[in-house]
Amino acid sequence: MILEEQLLQRSENKCELCQSEEQLKLYEVPPQSARNEDNCIMICETCASQIEKRAEVDKNHWRCLSSSMWSEVPGVQVVAWRMLQRLSSEGWASDNLDMLYLDDERLAWAKAVTDDEDNVINEMHKDANGMQLQAGDSIVLTRSLDVKGSQLNAKMGTVVKNIRLVENNTDQIEGKIEGQMIVILTKYVRKQA
Ligand SMILES: [Zn+2]
Repeated sequence: MILEEQLLQRSENKCELCQSEEQLKLYEVPPQSARNEDNCIMICETCASQIEKRAEVDKNHWRCLSSSMWSEVPGVQVVAWRMLQRLSSEGWASDNLDMLYLDDERLAWAKAVTDDEDNVINEMHKDANGMQLQAGDSIVLTRSLDVKGSQLNAKMGTVVKNIRLVENNTDQIEGKIEGQMIVILTKYVRKQA
């Protein structure tokens, strides 16, 4: 029997996270080298798109984890742990996280992707005062920048509108100064209200 069929049988043709019966697919819980029934789970497209960050996280959707986190399937436990981590600013999620016990091996697995592929945990672009920065924000330079190889006038107090966040590097944003897109360190900016 191929793995997919095995998993469908195990899950009774339902999403192993939210019980939906729509658009089920096999999800390989990363990181993995050889897939098996412990590290693959059947999930629906709604769950998959949010896990893989192709869609906004719908907090209420994940209340399903309150029951599915008790699954005996290792892959389900690990994904439940990761999503609860991601939602841990919500009281119910952090309560569940406290109750969800993973043995050392599974916990290590659960944490294995939180730093790079799944870089959501506490990883935000923040300005000099610790305020969260978002794409499209306007910022003020808190010191004059020396932009190598250019004559840019990036003096302290310069307002930069419509910033972009540099992916995978919360220390950097990009913004246009005098028509030129440059990389700016977040510690030298202050978000404009
Ligand atoms: Zn689902």
